[in-house]
Amino acid sequence: MSTLLRQSDSFHKICQYLVSFLLLLPLGTLQAGEAAVDPSDNGIDVLEDATLEVDSRSSETSAAAEEMAAHSPVREYAGPLANAVDDATGNAEPLQILGVEIAPGTSRRLSWSATELFEGVPVSTPVLVLNGVAPGPTVCLTAAVHGDELNGIEMVRRVFHDIEPSRLSGALIGVPIVNVQGFRRGSRYLPDRRDLNRYFPGNPNGSAAARIAYSLFNDVIANCDALVDLHTGSFERANLPQLRADLRNPDVVTLTHGFGAMVVLHSKPTVGTLRYAATMAGIPAVTVEAGGPSQLELAEVKHGVKGIETLLTTLGMTRRMRLWGDPEPVYYRSSWVRADNGGILLSDVSLGSSVRKGDLLGSITDPMNNARTELRSPYSGRIIGMARNQVVMPGFAAFHVGIETDEVTASEEEVEVAQKPAVGGYVDGMSE
Ligand SMILES: [Zn+2]
Repeated sequence: MSTLLRQSDSFHKICQYLVSFLLLLPLGTLQAGEAAVDPSDNGIDVLEDATLEVDSRSSETSAAAEEMAAHSPVREYAGPLANAVDDATGNAEPLQILGVEIAPGTSRRLSWSATELFEGVPVSTPVLVLNGVAPGPTVCLTAAVHGDELNGIEMVRRVFHDIEPSRLSGALIGVPIVNVQGFRRGSRYLPDRRDLNRYFPGNPNGSAAARIAYSLFNDVIANCDALVDLHTGSFERANLPQLRADLRNPDVVTLTHGFGAMVVLHSKPTVGTLRYAATMAGIPAVTVEAGGPSQLELAEVKHGVKGIETLLTTLGMTRRMRLWGDPEPVYYRSSWVRADNGGILLSDVSLGSSVRKGDLLGSITDPMNNARTELRSPYSGRIIGMARNQVVMPGFAAFHVGIETDEVTASEEEVEVAQKPAVGGYVDGMSE
């Protein structure tokens, strides 16, 4: 119990740190009105892995999400993302977003609030906008769609502080904390325990989650030409910094190449995720996964920032920012190794370790009878995600083994099994 209290204390310190940074951002004049105070929940969600499946939407709501996505406006084809800056002609235009006009060469901090929230009081969250002096694409960064995933919040802050609108071609829009209500409670979920990242592109007449998703998607995301959604592993699991991307989409492939030397995992997006809805609406999107929840992990943050800044340089939006030299992304197929027994999980590998087929990954010891079982790798590959040491139940996904493959193979294999959309997203949802 004392450990839990300490974790909770440090989490609140981190929250205060982040909020104070956001309030200090010199990006504009509007203040975020943080009016509502959320009732705290009992905090059990970070302890219960099983809720992930329960929480996932039923097939009925998933069909509704597909229906909505099918009717969401598909953007006009504007040419390949890779050439967007070179192909742009004329002068940069003012950017219209959230009822505000942002002139070229300026930055603003705006405030977005989804209407009709739980208490009937809108809760607002900052939206950072940099409109460059020269024309180009609009790239959006979103973080903390899951409220306990902190690394992305800090990545957005660092990226926005590193860039001057006077040196930018195109525009950058950042939403550092999408799920404000979950963030305040240190929870992945919304207060009604729904996973916001299963409700995009949303519905103005649906559940609270669907309404928040709809508002974000139409008020903010619809302005983007490309989207990078920042996540971490979930439930005491951490991910090696990696991209999740649907490599069947050429503009998505452009995005993955732009990130430089970051591991790329081909993954067809789960229905209802922001990545899914954006791509369906013609906005190529990738998810960055880096580290685990409820902590600020500086190495992961720096890795993510370097990737994003390399992307902006590759797209021609900025000039030489921390460019990874001659990047060669690595594509992985992947498989989760699950615990057969319940007990105390202790790892013998670390994130990023290379493993051979049959190598010991970790062990699970039954605390009652001291029986010990070993978890061995079924493949040769690399550990791209893993659980922190903890007590687990049978079936718990413990180690995510990436299997190196090339880009073409990765996307072809997925096509074969792509007949049915991934619903519930348990495997992919270890994260995103
Ligand atoms: Zn997430």
